[in-house]
This record gives sequence, structure tokens and C-alpha cells, in this order.
Amino acid sequence: MARQENHKERMAEALGAFLAAPPSGMPLELFEAFGRMVQTEDGVLPPRVFLEAVEQSPVAISITNTAANILYANSAFERMTGYSSAELIGKNQSILSYKVTPVEVYQDLWAHLTEQKPWNGVLINRRKDGTRYLADLTVAPVLGMGGETSYYLAMHRDVTDVHELEQQVRNQKVLIESVVDMAPVLIALLNTRGEVVLGNQAYKELSCSLQGREPSQVMMYALSEVLGGDILDAGDSSRNFLNAEIQIELAESAGLKWFSCSGIWVDESDIAVDNYFENEKGRCLLLVANDVTQQKQQQEQVRTNAMRALMAEQQLVYGMRETLSGAIFQLQGPLNMLTAALAILKRRGEDRSDPLQTALQEVLHIGETVVANLNTALPRQRKEAVQPINLNEVVREVLSVATDRLLAQGVQVDLSLSALLPPVLGHRYELCSLVKQLVDNAIDALGEPGVTRREIMLATQVSDDFVEVTIRDTGPGMPDMYRFKAFEPFFSGWKQSKSKAGMGLTIALEVAKYHGGSIEIVPENQHRLGCLVRLCLPLQAPRHLIDEMTE
Ligand code: FAD
Repeated sequence: MARQENHKERMAEALGAFLAAPPSGMPLELFEAFGRMVQTEDGVLPPRVFLEAVEQSPVAISITNTAANILYANSAFERMTGYSSAELIGKNQSILSYKVTPVEVYQDLWAHLTEQKPWNGVLINRRKDGTRYLADLTVAPVLGMGGETSYYLAMHRDVTDVHELEQQVRNQKVLIESVVDMAPVLIALLNTRGEVVLGNQAYKELSCSLQGREPSQVMMYALSEVLGGDILDAGDSSRNFLNAEIQIELAESAGLKWFSCSGIWVDESDIAVDNYFENEKGRCLLLVANDVTQQKQQQEQVRTNAMRALMAEQQLVYGMRETLSGAIFQLQGPLNMLTAALAILKRRGEDRSDPLQTALQEVLHIGETVVANLNTALPRQRKEAVQPINLNEVVREVLSVATDRLLAQGVQVDLSLSALLPPVLGHRYELCSLVKQLVDNAIDALGEPGVTRREIMLATQVSDDFVEVTIRDTGPGMPDMYRFKAFEPFFSGWKQSKSKAGMGLTIALEVAKYHGGSIEIVPENQHRLGCLVRLCLPLQAPRHLIDEMTE
């Protein structure tokens, strides 16, 4: 208490001495203000507190006249600039000016002050020893009683360290961004709301190829299909993943891209003011996706070739089955007649030793043996494993196998495949052969006489509990009276491809039924042009397929 009183007394003393011999040219207003400081009243904040506050402030404070000549500079100003107060008083603030600051900055400062507006900005200042520092300067006009500018008040802080830090962070950011940008893989940082915090060049390029669709959303959807569940759900770090392969459909039927994706959850400090003391952590998913389209295409090529060979083999098997089934069918007719003739003879009570009856019996026996032998000789299908199958892939594989035929006949193919097609259970090659049969039929239809427009439209979609594949051609169409007959063995309505045995649709229907599905030729009045065939396969596979898979 006593110390405080002493201090007050010393301040009052110092001020009294100062006022007794004020510096020459000291403005009247300051003189009056200082005068009031010594007249303290109990209970009222003494005006000299303001002087003390300014003097002891850690911010460099100066008061100038309207020409920027310094009238007062506090201790922090002295410490920051290296000049003593005595060296500063009467000098222009430009004593600190380092000529690297663009003149426009000063012009802006003065333009504000001239309009009696405060100004804030950063200048490069030079200390007495010649060293430079960055000054974050705020200048404000002090108005007199009549509203005219009487003084300027300036406050500045040395922000060199902050600037250096900012610059370092910025440099590091630029460096990291360039490295990330140059990386030959797609990199994106996503927050838990799926928003892209950072995306590299490869990410932006994919964005262009998707035309309006956000790559992160498309990829997250595809990943959730592959990995199950919502990938971004709650930022669960146990949901890191490695080399998950996804497939993305590009815009305007520009094809497909395959990515091998890895994701790792990283912590990010929350920059919200409210979390300043808590240091709350946000979570972000670092997604790295390697474009493996080329490798996939090569694999696909190998697979397509294998598929082509297998389908050729299957075609051969079908051909043999068709021929033998044809022979069995042809034999069955006379055998039925023989059986009927024998039955009549028996009913008439003819003698059993009748040579005609014996001969007929003999012929029937031989015929039945031949039919039985032919049935045994029917080649069996190769046993395939039951697996989940994406019918979009089946359609694409069939088209790649049929490319040569399509090109040779100048057929235009329009694909409209559902981006979200769930898999069905089944035998892959059998289903490929089935779809190939339907596509082959469509191509044959376009080769029929009188057809001018050569187009095939293939589409996939989910309808109720089924996955649907529709194949429409612009051929002559199928009259409604043949809609069901076309599935009967040995039915052939082709005018051009007369050599066909007419077993294609029969076998295709057999395969579809085995998979719990159906094939329908849509009535002509339900579509505009050509023939529309709809293949439906159930999302819930029939029991025997599930059993086959678990065997
Ligand atoms: P100058 O010729 O002094 O000024 C450059 C430009 O500023 C001129 O082309 C002119 O457009 C404009 N200008 C200068 N004086 C006036 C005026 N009186 N009225 C209108 N326009 C004018 N500068 C610093 O470098 N560091 C500081 O920390 C700093 N603090 C300041 C604090 C206050 C309160 C004020 C009022 C000014 C301060 N200045 C400071 C600005 C300083 O006064 C100089 O204008 C600046 O340093 C440039 O000086 P110069 O000699 O290079 O050019």
C-alpha cells in the first residue's frame, strides 16, 4: 500500500516537473490532458492511469502530429525500434521506413487517415541498428473538439515470427500439395460428412471424367458395396482398409475405371474457437486410390479369351446336344407309332407268336435301345462353381466376345447398365452363354431381309426381387403367335439363318429356369420396334443353387 502511494507521488511529481517545463511545441490538448491527470479525485479512475497504461503497454505506441512527426513514443516502441524516446521525438515516423514497402501501401495508409478513417496493415520497418522487422500497424486519427484531425495514434506489434511461421506452414503446404499433386495415385482427404478437404490433381482429373458427379461420393458408394456398410460412419479407425478394388462408370459411356483403394483414418485438430482449450480432434479419411484400369483390362482380355474358348466349347456341346436331341426327337415319332401298333395288335388278341408282332417287338426294342444309347451319349455340361455374378459384367463380357460379329454387321450397340446392380447367384459361363444366345439372336434378327436400321439396346436394372436384362433389336420383330413357340425345341423362324437347329432359346430358357428365373419375349404392343427379350433372375437364389454353393 505504502509502495503504491510512493509510486503515485513519484508519478505526480514527475508529471508536475514535466508540466513545469513542457517540450517546445507540445500541443495544447496534450498539455491540458496531462494537467487533468494530476488533479485526481477519490473514486474516479485517475487520468494518469491512462498514461501509465500506455507507457507500460507491451505494444509499441506512438502519438504524432498530422505530419506524422513523433510527439510521444512508449517504452515498448523504444525497445522494438532501438531508438530512445529522445531520438524519436520530433522525427517523422518514416524514420522506421524501409524502402522495400511498396509506396502504394503508404498511399493507402494516408488515404485512410485523410478521410479520418483508421488503417491497419503490415509494413517492413527498420530498426536503429538497420535490422528489419514486420510491423503489424494500426493508425487512427485523434479528433479535436471541432472534429478536425489533431493527432495520429499508432500501435504496432512485431509480427516477424508469426509471419515466418505462417510462411513456413505455407511453404510446407505448397510442398506437400505439389508432392501430393504429382503423385501418380489419386489422393483425397475426406471428413466424416464426405466433404473433400484436399484432393490432388488425379482426383480433379477424375472429377472431370465424371462430369458433375463428385468422385468421393461415387468411390465411397462403390467401396461400401465392396466392404459393406457406410465407410465414413463415425470415423471408425478400425475401418481402415487396404487394396479394396472398385469399379467406376465414367460419364458419357466413356468406359470403366478400376481403382485399388486404401483408406486410413487420421486425426485432425478442430480449429473451431470453442475448442481452443479442449484441443478436440476431428477425424478424416485419407483415401489413396491406384488406377489399375490397364492391368484390369489386360486381365479382362485374358478372361475374355478364356471365356471365348469356353463358350466355343459350350457351343460345340450345345451343337452336339442339338443334333442328338434332334435324332432322338425324330426317332421318338416312329417308336411311338410302333408302340401304338403293338398295343392295337395285343388288344385284338393276336397270337403272340405272330411273326409280325415279334418283328415289331424286335424293332421297338432296338429303337428304344438306340434312343437310350443316344440319351447316354448326350454330352454333359462342364460342372461350374456357383458364385455371385454381376450381370453388368456378363453383358460386357458377352459384348466383348461378340465384338467381331457386331463390327462385321455394322451393328450399333446402346448400353444402359444400372450403376447399382446387386449380384445374383449362378453359374457364370452358363449365364454368359445364355446372354450370348440372346445377343446372337438379336444380331441374326438384324441380318434378316428388309432390315435397314441395325441397333441393339442392352439394359440392366433391378425390378422388385429380380435383376432384369433386356435385349432389344431393331429387326423384324417376333409375331405374338410365336412368342411362346419360339422356346419349343427345333422351332426356327429365321428366313436368313435357316441352318439353325432352333434349340438356342430352348436351352437358354432351361438355364434361366435352373437359376430360378425366366425369359420372356415381350408382346409387340408393349414396345415400338423390333423384338424385346427380357431375362429375369432372382435376387434370392433358389435353394438348390445355395446348396450347390455350400457343398
Ligand atoms: P513519404 O514521402 O513520407 O510517403 C510516401 C507516400 O505517402 C507519399 O507518396 C504520399 O502519397 C503519402 N504521404 C506521406 N505523407 C503524407 C501526408 N502527410 N498526407 C498525405 N499523404 C502523405 N511508416 C513506416 O514505414 N513505418 C511506421 O511504423 C509508420 N508509422 C506511422 C505512424 C503514423 C501515426 C503515421 C501517420 C504514419 C506512419 N508511417 C510509418 C508512414 C510514414 O509517415 C511515411 O509516410 C512512410 O514511412 C513513407 O515514408 P517515405 O519517406 O518513404 O515517403
